Amino acid sequence: MIVPLLDLKPQYALLREEIRRVIDEVCDSQQFIMGPKVEELEREVARYCGCEFAVGVSSGTDALLLSLMASGVRAGDIVITTPYTFFATAGAVARLGAQPLFVDIERDTFNIDPSCLEDTLKKLDRGSAKRARAVIPVHLFGQCADMESILKIARDWGLLVIEDAAQAIGADCRFTDGSLKRAGNMGDCGCFSFFPSKNLGAFGDGGMVTTNSRELYERLKIMRVHGAFPKYHHRIIGGNFRLDALQAAVLLIKLRHLDEWTSKREKNAQYYNKMLRNAGPNPIELPKVKRGVRHIYNQFVIRAAGARDALRDYLASSGIGCEIYYPVPLHTQECFLYLGYGKNDFPVAMEAAETSLAIPIFPELTTEQLAYVVEIISQFFAQKIS
Ligand SMILES: *Cc1c(COP(=O)(O)O)cnc(C)c1O
Repeated sequence: MIVPLLDLKPQYALLREEIRRVIDEVCDSQQFIMGPKVEELEREVARYCGCEFAVGVSSGTDALLLSLMASGVRAGDIVITTPYTFFATAGAVARLGAQPLFVDIERDTFNIDPSCLEDTLKKLDRGSAKRARAVIPVHLFGQCADMESILKIARDWGLLVIEDAAQAIGADCRFTDGSLKRAGNMGDCGCFSFFPSKNLGAFGDGGMVTTNSRELYERLKIMRVHGAFPKYHHRIIGGNFRLDALQAAVLLIKLRHLDEWTSKREKNAQYYNKMLRNAGPNPIELPKVKRGVRHIYNQFVIRAAGARDALRDYLASSGIGCEIYYPVPLHTQECFLYLGYGKNDFPVAMEAAETSLAIPIFPELTTEQLAYVVEIISQFFAQKIS
């Protein structure tokens, strides 16, 4: 049996007619750049996330870059983030000439550890503390970072909070005051990606920035079009960060199905949790979800200490797609060697890189496919032990 890590074809089969119709509409209008579909998507995504405003952009990477630019982050500033994330989180910081400052993650959630954040801030000399401008928590794999703690620390230290919610559309967490907040609605702004492999995927690249600040919203909108306001008058330098009308049209249709797809991912996760827990003796660690948090499972990431690479090979040779997110923590990437980190500076992130493995979790997985994944994993450990 073949079980890909992700198969988008069944989703497309379901929506084919509807999507082709709106693509035709856009083609007939010959209005490809921004326009009413983009504005409608912005309203819908803002509503979905519980935010006042949303600005459609060209990708998740550009959502991060534009957010940093619009927040006034400049060369020489320090932006704190996790070394265990997709490259773009720190890449956007470095592209502005700002300095990514990494702090280690929590073992259970793979997300930035608030106590490491606070320790790092306390150890900064006065000059560096002055340069520290923002923190980018990443809601990795679809589970929110510990935002209540991070927001408190950020407030104490005067840091902006830019959520990297690229993998977390619709994820939420409950605060101690009882309020329930969605990813992208907790910090100063939230960055989303519509890369096809995200829970809400476009037919190409796309992204969104959400915010509750009117001032930031206005800057985001102006900087998205080269900082022009009015047209051809540039008081600030922006870029071309626009979202295509075609992508917005497709995303509007898909957004209506997002909750149903997320529930299916949650059901698949429940199945794995139940079956793998009882799959005989094995060293697998299942994903841990914090109390009061809704994990939307962009990825279902298990840990297999000491056996990860062999398990990956075994799954692959049995027709099961899997992937290591992420094999090389950012502080050890060649392009970041100039930051001067040592390999062992972030032991929790390093351990995650050595033990984690994502297995198929997409909504349309069949019962047979799920059972097959469990069977092959059990088989692998049964062989190893006997
Ligand atoms: C996908 C992703 C991005 C970048 O999004 P693109 O749309 O691919 O540019 C940024 N951060 C994280 C955590 C991601 O998963």
